[in-house]
Amino acid sequence: MTDKKAMVIFGATGDLALKMTFPSLYFLDKEGHLPPEMVILGVARAQNTDASFAEEIQKAVKQAAKADYSDESFAHFAQRLRYCDGDVTQPAPYAKIAEQLKDTEILLFYMSTSPDFFGVIAQHLRENGLIQPQSRIAIEKPIGHDLASSRLIEASLSQAFPEERIHRVDHYLGKDTVQNLIALRFANMLFEPLWNKDSIEHVQITVAETVGVERRWSYYDSYGALRDVVQNHMLQLLCLVAMEPPANLDADSVRDEKVKVLKSLRPIGAAEVERETVRGQYRKGYTESGAVPGYSEEAGGGNSDTETFVALAAHIDNWRWAGVPFFLRTGKRLPTRTTQIVVQFKPVPHSIFHQSENVPNRLIIRLQPQEEIALEIMNKTPELEAVRLKPVALDLNLTDAFRTARRRIAYERLIFDALKGSTFLFVRRDEVEAAWRWIDRIVDGWKARDMSCLPYTAGTWGPSSAFALTERQGYSWIE
Ligand code: NAD
Repeated sequence: MTDKKAMVIFGATGDLALKMTFPSLYFLDKEGHLPPEMVILGVARAQNTDASFAEEIQKAVKQAAKADYSDESFAHFAQRLRYCDGDVTQPAPYAKIAEQLKDTEILLFYMSTSPDFFGVIAQHLRENGLIQPQSRIAIEKPIGHDLASSRLIEASLSQAFPEERIHRVDHYLGKDTVQNLIALRFANMLFEPLWNKDSIEHVQITVAETVGVERRWSYYDSYGALRDVVQNHMLQLLCLVAMEPPANLDADSVRDEKVKVLKSLRPIGAAEVERETVRGQYRKGYTESGAVPGYSEEAGGGNSDTETFVALAAHIDNWRWAGVPFFLRTGKRLPTRTTQIVVQFKPVPHSIFHQSENVPNRLIIRLQPQEEIALEIMNKTPELEAVRLKPVALDLNLTDAFRTARRRIAYERLIFDALKGSTFLFVRRDEVEAAWRWIDRIVDGWKARDMSCLPYTAGTWGPSSAFALTERQGYSWIE
């Protein structure tokens, strides 16, 4: 077997590759985590030489790595970079790739292109004999725009790669805090006995962005917030909060438990969408960056009913979670950039303190703006005159706790694991399909009920119906 190794990145000049994939590879290289003889071959439509491609990558890495960039380590990284141009829907680039990677062990094909190309690329790779027994493929979300289209993509992928060599990326799973949720739940005695309908009142998951749709309008407009964020990131978070303890940390043991949660989600269809979901679209308004246009104006005046905000009340029909609502909301042009899971515990069964002062415990797992876990517990204030209570957060600030470590890009861990062949942090096909099945029903329900988007002003927390969604059940969103 040859010592020469390669990773091939399709879509190597795109937004994702420049913002995430190459900076992550740069750090992996800098810290000695890449196989010494591995070249990184970028494939894309634009014409480039190896040298001009390396220059483009250098610019992107400098921008992403900021103070952690050094010319010296980039020079080392640049020795790995190669480029191949061509249209990936045509046979031509594959002959060039085969020529460039003669006598080379190809470890990973990374698809940083539109999902429309996943199938055709896999087919060409197979026909050109580029897939070796150890080669793996990593694909970006979204996998299709509904169950039927995801099955078509999966069918063509599965002709070229077996399931255990397909790495479906959901970059939230690469975040330390998300992995920490598994440690928090299953490496501590404190939480698991309370982690159920008897002690937990409800759960909220918020993924809030301050940015608008910007340059990604044409992609975003055919997806919307439900397909772009809820189907993958938010349902993955929900699964990790709600799953039963897996038998062990094997990829399949964990994924089996996640699939069970997805299958237990109560369907939301035409009869329920008006009660359980809210769709919104931002209009012009003000954010931290000043006055901003509405969604349709960003597209150059187009008319669209694509949602940029969605809120919904999900229910998990099993013994652990019966009667505990999981409120999910996500949107663009919201007031703050926040990604968090809030586990709201029930009040104590009998309070010996003044009722209004006894605030129920709350566990907050925050991914953005910074990664931290906080447990709000009741404390007595030090004053003499009266017994007063105040919630105080027991903070586990991961940035402070592990100060010596640079905060990694989520993709670093994912690429590292994919190169090593671990599927633990990747999504299995049945998870993707169970998620689409639940999401498709909501989309069909919206169509059946003619439920168009409600407007909200940019810089606010979405349409007022989003507040009514939780308040109807006696709860409020936690900002
Ligand atoms: P992009 O449009 O910026 O880049 C696409 C890349 O594909 C470019 O390098 C382009 O040259 C190449 N390409 C397009 N058509 C080609 C063809 N016919 N032949 C050869 N190369 C071709 O897209 P992106 O935003 O980088 O997204 C890539 C993938 O990652 C998509 O599946 C997207 O949904 C997913 N994704 C993107 C982001 C993000 O922040 N950009 C986040 C999550 C997932």
